[in-house]
Amino acid sequence: APQPQPRPRWFRVPAPDTNAQHSQHDDLKHALRSRRLHTVCEEAECPNIGECWNGGTATIMVLGDTCTRGCRFCAVNTNSKPAPPDEDEPFNVAAEIATWGLNYVVLTSVDRDDLVDGGAGHFAKTVRFIKQLSPSLLVECLVGDFQGDQQAVQLLATCGLDVFAHNMETVQRLQRHVRDKRASYEQSLSVLKGAKRCGVYTKTSLMLGLGETDDEIRETMRDCRDVGVDIITFGQYLRPTERHLSVVEYVSPEKFQQWEEEGKAIGFRYVASGPMVRSSYKAGEYFLESMIR
Ligand code: SF4
Ligand code: SF4
Repeated sequence: APQPQPRPRWFRVPAPDTNAQHSQHDDLKHALRSRRLHTVCEEAECPNIGECWNGGTATIMVLGDTCTRGCRFCAVNTNSKPAPPDEDEPFNVAAEIATWGLNYVVLTSVDRDDLVDGGAGHFAKTVRFIKQLSPSLLVECLVGDFQGDQQAVQLLATCGLDVFAHNMETVQRLQRHVRDKRASYEQSLSVLKGAKRCGVYTKTSLMLGLGETDDEIRETMRDCRDVGVDIITFGQYLRPTERHLSVVEYVSPEKFQQWEEEGKAIGFRYVASGPMVRSSYKAGEYFLESMIR
C-alpha cells in the first residue's frame, strides 16, 4: 500500500472569513442553531464555509445521516437499515430555507439503497416545495447513482431543479478501490447521461491525489463530456481518519490550474479546480458564470 504523504507547506486551510461585521454566515448559523436542519458545510467542518455562505450558497443534507454504502474515502455512518425518511422534511427544509435569503442551495444526501426509488421522490418533493416558496432560488441536487435506475434519475431530473450533480469521484481504474462495490464508472456515466437527456445542467466532481495518472484524468474528462456534462470540479482528496484511504499525492496548485485549462479547452461550461475545491464550492457563483458563457 502507498505510504501516507505529509501535507506540503503550501497546503494551508484558510480560516472562515470572520471579518465581515454581520455576515450572511452569522445569520445562517443563528438560523440553524434553533432548527433541525443539517448542513454539510457545518457537519464536515468545511473550510470554505465563510466564502460559500457569504456568497449565498449552502449545502443541506436530506434523508438522514446514515448511508447504506461504505466508500473508502467517506466518513459517514453506515448501516443497511437506516431510519425511514422524515415525511415532513421536504416542506420543513423549504420553509426554513425561504427565511435565509440564499441565492443557491445544494441538496444532497447519503445513499439510500434501502428505498425503492433511492430517495429520488423525496428530493423531488423538496425541490418542488422550495420552488414554490422561493421561486428565484437556484437548486442543485447532488445525488448518488440510484443503482443506475433511470426512472429515478428521470423523476429527479424533471422535478424543476436547476443542476443535477452526480460525482464520478475518481478515474475508471480506481473505482473499485475507492468507492463502494455497488458503484461503478459506467453506472455513474449512465446517470449523468440520463439526467442530461432531460435537458438539465449536469455536473460532476473528481477527487485527485488517489494515485490516478494524467491520462486517466483526461480520459474521465472526455467520457464526461461525451455524455454532456456541463460542469466539472477537481479537489484534493483528504483522508478523513486513519481508517480511510491514505493520500497518495498532494497535487500542486499549478497542476490544478492545468486541469482547469484542459477542462475548459474540451468544452466544459465551467471548471472549478483547486486543492480545497469541493463539489459544492461557491456553486452558486460559478453556476451563474457558466450560464452567461
Ligand atoms: Fe459516503 Fe456517498 Fe459513499 Fe455513502 S455513498 S459512503 S455518503 S460517498
Ligand atoms: Fe458548504 Fe460545499 Fe461550500 Fe463546503 S464547499 S461550505 S460544504 S457549500
